[in-house]
Amino acid sequence: MFNLERIRKDFPILSRKVNGKPLVYLDNAATSQTPQHVIDCIVDYYSNYNANIHRGVHTLSQEATDKYEAARQTIQKHFNVKKAHEIIFTSGTTHGINLVANGFSSFLKSGDEIVVSALEHHSNIVPWQMLCERTGAVLKVIPMNEEGELVMSEFDNLLSPNTQLVFVNHISNALGTINPIEEIIQKAHAVDAAVLVDGAQACPHIKPDVQDLDVDFYVASAHKMCGPTGVGILYGKEAWLNKLPPYQGGGEMIAEVTFEKTTYADLPHKFEAGTPNICGGIAFGAAIDYMNSIGFNNIASYEHELLEYATQQLLKINGLKIYGTSKHKTSVISFNLEGIHPYDVGTILDKMGIAVRTGHHCAQPIMDYYKIPGTVRASFAFYNTKTEVDSLVEGVKKAQMMLS
Ligand code: PMP
Repeated sequence: MFNLERIRKDFPILSRKVNGKPLVYLDNAATSQTPQHVIDCIVDYYSNYNANIHRGVHTLSQEATDKYEAARQTIQKHFNVKKAHEIIFTSGTTHGINLVANGFSSFLKSGDEIVVSALEHHSNIVPWQMLCERTGAVLKVIPMNEEGELVMSEFDNLLSPNTQLVFVNHISNALGTINPIEEIIQKAHAVDAAVLVDGAQACPHIKPDVQDLDVDFYVASAHKMCGPTGVGILYGKEAWLNKLPPYQGGGEMIAEVTFEKTTYADLPHKFEAGTPNICGGIAFGAAIDYMNSIGFNNIASYEHELLEYATQQLLKINGLKIYGTSKHKTSVISFNLEGIHPYDVGTILDKMGIAVRTGHHCAQPIMDYYKIPGTVRASFAFYNTKTEVDSLVEGVKKAQMMLS
């Protein structure tokens, strides 16, 4: 059923060489690679029906509109969304978060509280800080512990009748920790706070059911799940999306415009001003179809196997420390070699064709907690192999020898 050899053939980039060595791509948490199915979809769009959508009477425009809206429905089904118009196409996770943060600036007042977690990506910190500056609301933070988990007893203490919003990522990009979002959503709703979950790192590994979660907003990016860059989604409950004001003004998002007054279009168009990333949206649908053809259960169990194997092998290296040791984590390993800067390790690995991420991973508060400048992060996808893990381990050993 899960045929790794066949899966790897779906990804043309995996057969290229880097610095004369076979590419070992372990930077999947930053962006995933693109299967031929999605590349073909992009080529097909530009070769056969590239046109602007929604307002054309001609055939190409209608074909593009149909495919774009069909992709929205694919996404709707994937996330178990009740109504297709509760899916807003965005340029990615960052855009979705900013759209919601901007909308809430019309409701929040001084003294309101918003709760964020210590494990966030900067894109789930900065927009809320900007929102607090504009409204006088107060930002509170759920702390983390040494294992890289949220301290949930502290979350209970942070909630109050003043809590209006809670923002948390489903899975941490820097450590791979899976956060207890079910509990967070339930407790936030008990004080009538809305919840936004940043699913950028979760969607490549699991299939979220937004109705089952009862989450108010959920955001994701296509490029982390085998799709193209520059496109993503915001899911919002219909009642919330109707309540939020538009984010950007322009074409496509209006019902009627006069110089005296403009009325806005219905959902989802109210939040989709201007010409969208049409090809990207269609290719996002194709990427979701592709991932479902592999199967999220297969993906999760194989990636878990890779994670366990890589963790065991890396921990055999003297002086190597892994950050984020929760039992609830996905296939991300953040580590450092004692006395060696992560950037130097990453540079040497690149010479061997091994792509990893180094630095703070847009999560500086996590690095501050551990009192480190950054880590080396190896993040695995379902198309990685144990042989690639072995190459990483050998590479890290070599880097250690060269840099000690
Ligand atoms: N949140 C998390 C947890 C992420 O990992 C990322 C991407 N690294 C983002 C948000 C931002 O996603 P994008 O750059 O696609 O908007």
